[in-house]
Order: sequence, then structure tokens, then C-alpha cells
Amino acid sequence: KNFGIKDVLTTLGLKKNNQGVSTGSKWYRSGGGLIESYSPVDGKLIGSVYGGDEKTWDKVVKQSEEAFKIWRTWPAPKRGEVVRQVGDALRKNKDPLGKLVSYEMGKSLQEGLGEVQEMIDICDFAVGLSRQLHGLTMHSERPNHRMYEQWHPIGTVGIISAFNFPVAVWSWNAMLAWVCGDVCVWKPSEKTPLCSIACQLIVAKIFAKNGVPEGVSCLVNGDATIGQLMAADERVPLVSATGSTRMGKAVARTVSERLGRSLLELGGNNAIIITENANLDMSIRGALFGAVGTAGQRCTTTRRLIVHDSIFDEVKEKLKKAYGQLSIGNPLDPANHVGPLIDKQAVKLYNDALKKVKLAGGEFVVKGGVLQGKGFESACYVKPAIAEVQNEFEIVQHETFAPILYLIRYNTLEEAIEKQNGVKQGLSSSIMTTSLRDMERFLSASGSDCGIANVNIGTSGAEIGGAFGGEKETGGGRESGSDAWRAYMRRQTNTINFGETLPLAQGIKFDI
Ligand code: NAD
Repeated sequence: KNFGIKDVLTTLGLKKNNQGVSTGSKWYRSGGGLIESYSPVDGKLIGSVYGGDEKTWDKVVKQSEEAFKIWRTWPAPKRGEVVRQVGDALRKNKDPLGKLVSYEMGKSLQEGLGEVQEMIDICDFAVGLSRQLHGLTMHSERPNHRMYEQWHPIGTVGIISAFNFPVAVWSWNAMLAWVCGDVCVWKPSEKTPLCSIACQLIVAKIFAKNGVPEGVSCLVNGDATIGQLMAADERVPLVSATGSTRMGKAVARTVSERLGRSLLELGGNNAIIITENANLDMSIRGALFGAVGTAGQRCTTTRRLIVHDSIFDEVKEKLKKAYGQLSIGNPLDPANHVGPLIDKQAVKLYNDALKKVKLAGGEFVVKGGVLQGKGFESACYVKPAIAEVQNEFEIVQHETFAPILYLIRYNTLEEAIEKQNGVKQGLSSSIMTTSLRDMERFLSASGSDCGIANVNIGTSGAEIGGAFGGEKETGGGRESGSDAWRAYMRRQTNTINFGETLPLAQGIKFDI
């Protein structure tokens, strides 16, 4: 209603049919298949994108290598200045880009705008970082010697991104990589190709204005076959891949085969522990948003609630009541809390998971189901469900990318932590508690085994200032804040002899 998606597309420079391969200002027509992008909001075709093929892939990587030779010689703060301007351009385009994210991916408009804000924030972060790419100096054991380390750009960074964060994940990688002096080739999700074109167009304008070499920002749309070309390509020293664990394992195998580097951001199976003394209002709020926000399609979505036996029934009732008040529908309407799943395949996986929960002996506290009728024509809208389960159930051990929340009971904190850690994934975790002892225990070396561990906030979402990522099958990579930038650079140790003799290390004598 009054959404004006046509205006959004025109403002962002998108056409009905778009070339999907670019090295910046140049766009290439290739032999890759046509990708049609349908909105999960209303099932309508938004536009199409021509995917890349082997030939265009090769051309793009060659161009990126040429660009790297120049870009790496620009002073880092000067590269930061360009990224600052990208941030400003994103500020100007926040509204249309946020709307496109919401319409193409299906998250709420508020979350679509929030995703663009995250891009702006990482630009700001990267600008500051461009003056802080520092290394250490060490004392040499030899007289008149100086030893230090410096960080150099690594080259072409390949970025594979998932559908659920169609623009932010790319920016987390690209903005850092650019200030570090790298060049990027982005393979976006084939489920959200139009978002990638919009980003490339915004960046290309700023790059052209600043004389940035063609090839610093590259885009190759396509499906997994393009991702496979990237993983196998020796000219891509670092592949940063975000998506399912299945994809991450395939990419990691191929990249490690050629001894390349991979940075993996894969699936999660995140839990909140609610202790007997927790603030229940805060706990329910955190669990609710964590479980149903983005219709359960965040890597940090709350999938399991591990609740103390003494408050289990109360939490269950409160959640049931809260779920009863959720309104499901068009995510562009701010009155709705839950939007659609990405596509019908995701709906099938949701249905399959519900069946498996039942078969395993789970008990539904809130029943799920697919919504039909007016407003749900895309057939992608599902009801958020809650089931009482055992942590050991096969289905509970898996990440189902949909709003299904599992309730699990515990008696001792030891047991709760064991259950929280008792899955293959290790992304986000949290504890709701007012006990300092429980909190410290949860954050200690024998507490949560996840990359993210929170206290009195939920599992979902993260600030760009911290390093983001997780352990075990989540892949071990860290992106965004803290010192995550180091992954995009190569470390060089330098020793300088400013004396007039050549002493050897470890006191070794070699006289002739
Ligand atoms: P997906 O694995 O199906 O696809 C992700 C990307 O990988 C797409 O661009 C796809 O084309 C590509 N791809 C798929 N198979 C490939 C292969 N064999 N080789 C190379 N590329 C391949 O994931 P999705 O459905 O788009 O996204 C949902 C998943 O992403 C969830 O598991 C979610 O937890 C995860 N995710 C993780 C994070 C994180 O930071 N940890 C962030 C967002 C999403």
C-alpha cells in the first residue's frame, strides 16, 4: 500500500532487466542465466539480473588484480576518505535502499533501514580504522638492529553473502577490505540480487568521482557455481563466506586445498538461559524479539530457551500470551511484527521441522502453520511456533531458518551451560540473570563456548564495534569491529641492521 516500489527502483537506478556483473563503472553482459527476483512480501516479480559465467568471472578477477596494483599504493587515510564518502552516499540513499532490502528480502521496513544504518556505521568505523592499521615493534636481540611488523593489503577479497543480510554483510567486509588496501569481488545471494546492484551503483558513483581504479569494487551475480569458481581461484587469497554450514564446509575444503585463506560466518543455534532469579519481563522481551524478529531468519535468532525448572511454567505461559499478540503480515506495514520467509522452499523446511519435532515427541506450546488468503498470496507467511523439547532431539540440533522456538528445562547452571554448549554451532548465546555468580560463571572459560556471549540482552543482533562471529560449525571467522581487520591483511616482520657488522641471531658464529 502506497509503498511506491517503482519509485524506489528508479531512485536507485535499477531497471527491469539488469546486468549482474560489474567492475565498478563498467557492466558486462554475460552468458550466465537470468535470475528473477520475486518479493516474498507479495509474490510479485521485482526485476531480473543476468548472472555471470566463467568467462566474465575471469575478466572481473583480472581487472581486480590490475586495480590492486594501484589501490595498494594509495595512503590508507586517503582510501578512508573515499569510504567516508560512500557512507555519506548511503545516508542519502538510506530510505530507498532500506525499502528495497525490506521488499526483496522480506524483513520489516524498520529492520531494512536498520541494515542500511549498519552499513553507514561500518563506513564510519572503517574511516577511523584507516589511520590505525598499526603493527608492533619488538626489541631485537642483536645490537644496532630494529625489528617491527607491518600489515600490508592481501589482494583480491572474495565475498560470498547470504540472503538474510543482503547488503550489511557485504559492507562489513568491503569497507574494511578497502581501507586495508584490498580490492573486492562480491558474489551476492541469488535470492537478493537487486540489492547488490543498488549497492554497486551507489559505490561506483563515489569511486568515479575520486578516481578510484576500475576493479576495486567488483560484483558477479550468480548461484553457487560462481561461489565455487571464487573458492577455487588462486588469484583470490581470501574468501569471506557467509551462509549455511553446508556451504561453508564446501568453500573451506576448496580454499584450503589451494592453501588460501577463508573467513567463515556460518549457521547458529543460539540459546538464552533464563535463571530462577532473572527479570522475567526483560527475558520474555529478549526471547520474543530474538525468536520471531526477521521471521527467525537471522544467524543470531534465538532458537532455544533453556529455562530453570522453578519458573518454566510461568515463562511458558507468558510466552504463549505474547505470541498470541503477534501480528503477521506485510513487513512494510509497521503494525506487523512478523513478515514472510524468503521463499516457498523455506516454508517447506519449516513444515518439515514441525513434523520432525512432533515425531521426536516434542509438545507444541504454540502451534505453527502456513497462512493463506488475502495478504498472504506469496505463500511465504508462517506462524511462529513454540515447542517443549529435549536438547538431544535431532531436529533441535539443527538450525531451521524459521521462527520455531524450543523450550528446554534445567535444574542446575552446570546442566544449563552443558545444554547451551551441546550443539555443533557456536555463534551467539546469552544468560538472563540477576546473580553475579551465574553471570561470571557463564562468561568464564568453562561457560558459554560461543563467539558471542551476552548478559541480560538477547542473542540476536550485534553492534559493529565488536568482532562478530562464532566457533565450531559457525566457522570461526570474525568480522566487523575490534581487530577483525587483520584478517584482510598480511603481516610482515621486518628487521633492519643500522650497524656496520653482521651479527647472526642466537649467537651463531660463521667466521671465514
Ligand atoms: P546458503 O548457504 O544457501 O547461501 C549463502 C551463499 O553461498 C549464497 O550466495 C550462495 O549462492 C552461496 N553458495 C551456496 N553453496 C555454495 C557452494 N557450494 N560454494 C560456494 N558458494 C555457495 O545460505 P542462505 O540460505 O543464503 O543464508 C542462510 C544461512 O546463512 C543460515 O545458515 C545463517 O545462519 C547463515 N548466516 C550466517 C551469518 C553469520 O554471520 N554467521 C550471517 C548471515 C547468515
